[in-house]
Amino acid sequence: MTSPAAAPDPAALLAALGAVWSPDFDAYASGQLDASQVRCVLCGHAPCDCPPFGTSEYFALTDRLHGRTRGGGA
Ligand SMILES: [Zn+2]
Repeated sequence: MTSPAAAPDPAALLAALGAVWSPDFDAYASGQLDASQVRCVLCGHAPCDCPPFGTSEYFALTDRLHGRTRGGGA
């Protein structure tokens, strides 16, 4: 048996963040892309290259994703 917490599920993590799917998710869902090729919705990298959860860098990414950037930069 596997623990639900043993290996974080990317989909569950995204759902917890407010469910903004990767632009590649449709391709993944239709079988055109392997999960490892789906760009992360936060960092835009495939595979995900996000900073560790809970770091200021991580929250900067989530803030940007949710349109809470201050200053309007890239
Ligand atoms: Zn990522």
